[in-house]
Amino acid sequence: DPRLQAISNAIRVVPHFPKQGIMFQDITTLLLDHKAFKHTVDIFVDRYKDMDISVVAGVEARGFMFGPPIALAIGAKFVPLRKPRKLPGEVIAEAYELEYGRDCLEMHVGAVEAGERAIVIDDLVATGGTLTAAIRLLERVGVEVVECGSVIGLREVKVVKNPSPSFRKQGLLFC
Ligand code: IMP
Repeated sequence: DPRLQAISNAIRVVPHFPKQGIMFQDITTLLLDHKAFKHTVDIFVDRYKDMDISVVAGVEARGFMFGPPIALAIGAKFVPLRKPRKLPGEVIAEAYELEYGRDCLEMHVGAVEAGERAIVIDDLVATGGTLTAAIRLLERVGVEVVECGSVIGLREVKVVKNPSPSFRKQGLLFC
């Protein structure tokens, strides 16, 4: 897909951010490039438009940048999965392990209904721990998570269900 090169070129890699040794994948430069940003959204939309998806769940914070345009285009609602103490209403929470420490994702009670079909969107998958927590959160309330989509796949994903390395070769990561 010729669009993938443009997407890849638009993502800036910042060495040693936020700390020494980390090669930070910066998608803010992708958002500045209208064509590459549109290609990114279009690839997700092409994949998910006919899959009877009613929920696009986005992981804070960069899943909030890609999730809403995908949701609008496929006719689904957008549900933010937020870091602790950001959502004002009643929430359900799912804690998960990070490389150093723990974090947590929260979702408003009532945002989704049992039986709905969802995709989860984030910018980048490293270990898959964040997406795994997102899947658990949605499955706990009876939502079927059809797939997770991510703009960047850092390495083979071990944690999420049904990893599909074949898709990863095409550029964006679907798992
Ligand atoms: P995982 O849980 O190990 O798969 O890490 C994925 C999470 O870490 C995602 O929410 C990403 O936004 C974030 N993340 C890790 N490294 C980077 C990076 O280099 N750029 C942007 N986000 C990153």
